[in-house]
Order: sequence, then structure tokens, then C-alpha cells
Amino acid sequence: MSSILSRIDFDSVLKELKRRNVRTVGVQLPDGLKYFSKEIAEKLGDFEVLISASPSFGACDVDTSILPYVDVLLHFAHEPIFELDGVIYVPYRVDFHEESVKHLKIKENRIALIAAAQYAWKLESVKAILENEGYEVELKKGSGRVKLPGQVLGCNYSALKGSGAGAVLFIGDGLFHPVGAAIYTGKKVYRFSPLSKEFEEVDTGCFLKERMLIMSKALNAESFGIVVSTKIGQNRLNLARKLKKIAERSGKKSDIIITDNFSVENFNYECYVNTACPRIAYDDHHRRSKPIITPQELEIVVGLRSWEQYKIDEIL
Ligand code: SF4
Repeated sequence: MSSILSRIDFDSVLKELKRRNVRTVGVQLPDGLKYFSKEIAEKLGDFEVLISASPSFGACDVDTSILPYVDVLLHFAHEPIFELDGVIYVPYRVDFHEESVKHLKIKENRIALIAAAQYAWKLESVKAILENEGYEVELKKGSGRVKLPGQVLGCNYSALKGSGAGAVLFIGDGLFHPVGAAIYTGKKVYRFSPLSKEFEEVDTGCFLKERMLIMSKALNAESFGIVVSTKIGQNRLNLARKLKKIAERSGKKSDIIITDNFSVENFNYECYVNTACPRIAYDDHHRRSKPIITPQELEIVVGLRSWEQYKIDEIL
């Protein structure tokens, strides 16, 4: 537990709360940190603490409903993707020995460096180590949605836009981000986890086969529910309107469904098009009885885009 909470800089948080002279503090935690809410509230000392029970999937998902009740909301564990009055983002940063990237077996000479938010704060020092090893290293900041150079999100790979590298090195855990980076760039992507020391070349084959299967189920659908999120950093209503027109021009019935949390089980559409967090379509499809596709996949299903032009869904 202590090692988990040591990844949060409570001293800076307390200093900022005192500077703002606040009394009531809201706390929003991702599900993985909710277990530690007692310890986190204790660390906030004498401030009155109101803890949000809402989910917190990312910096896109700020619980603005509690803002009227607090002087400031602490949104934990995500780097900001936009600034909001009364909200302080409290990052969760994993420390690791940057020297651990020495001796990774990367054949390409020029590497683009990316990481998930928890690891991206150390990419400048990882870059220096790799350069010392003789590599040419690209470390670029993406669109306004990402804060740190090299940082990628499950909905944003813009740090790799126009990359001239021969391969990409992703620092972090899990396969979703590196698979997304491989589809985004069409380049070879290596994943290195500094904690487990796992190092592998990422394969996009399973992911793409799965998406093809889901699209094939959507091919004969006659009705489409186009889902829009009300979450502040996930709302793409204009895109949904465009997709509705695309579906209708292809002779399909379609309606826009607007929701805070993606839940469509009681509806009776034959297929859903997700404009909320892209990961809902990619990660949750096996839990749903009907196919859920991305905006780009709808274009493939109705024949406006070829399979060879498959693109990962992003929010820029
Ligand atoms: S939209 Fe999804 S992938 Fe993007 S920041 Fe939010 S939770 Fe993460």
C-alpha cells in the first residue's frame, strides 16, 4: 500500500490546498485507488473531504457533479487533458530505473519513444540513456490532449504523428497502447515494462482479426444506435451526427443515444457505434450481446472505407 501511495506527491497537494485557502475538498479516484480512500482522506489532514463514488476512467472523466459542493476537486491518477476551474489533477507517477532500457535488443537505429502517463514523466532520461547506447531517439509531444512529451492515451497517439523512426518503443504495461501505436504508425512496436522487465515485439494480428469478426457481424445490421458520452472529455456529438447521416445514406435506421455510462443492454438496435471512449468498443465487446464498432469501422461496414485503410479511433 505505502508503495502505491508513494507514487502520489501529497506534499505538493497539501501546499496547493493551503495556498488556495480551501475548506472542503472533493476526491475522485479511479477504481484501482478507491480501496485506499481512507488513507488518502487521512493524508489530507484537516480539510473536510467529500469522496466521489463515480467512476474515473481518465482525465476525460472529471466528476463535475460534485463541484458545487466543494471548494476544489482533486482528480487523482491522471495527467490533465484540459484545465477546469476548481479542479486539481494529481498525477500518479511510477518510478523506475531508466538504466533498465540499456541492452534492449532493438535492431532499428532510429526509435520513437512513447509511454503511458504513469511512465511518461521519465522519458527524457530514458531518451538520454538510449542516445548513449547509440540510438537516434524521437521524443515528441502530441496534441493538446496530452501533457507530457511521448505520452500516449488509449484515445490519442498524436505523439507519433509524422514519425520518421524505424520502430517505436513503448514503455509501460499492457498491450492496448502498443497495439494502438502499431496500427496508428504501421511500424514495428516494442513494449518494455520497467517493473516486470518484459520486453517483446507487439503483434497486431489478434486485435485486427477480432475487429474483422465484429465488423462482419455488423454487416447485415439494419439498425444502429450511435452512442455519445456526456463525459466532458469524451463527448463527440458532432461526429455522432455525421455518422447518423452516413448510416442513413446507406439505408440503415439509426438513432443517437446519449449517456454518461455506456449501457445499452435494454435497447434493441442490431449494432452500436461508439463515439465515447474508443476503448469501450475495443475492450468491452465480449461482454455485449450486440456488436459495438468504432466510427472508422462503420465507414468500412457501409463501404466508405476499405479494410486496408483501417484506422485506430482517436479523440484529438
Ligand atoms: S477517452 Fe478513454 S482512452 Fe481517452 S483518456 Fe478517456 S478513458 Fe482514457
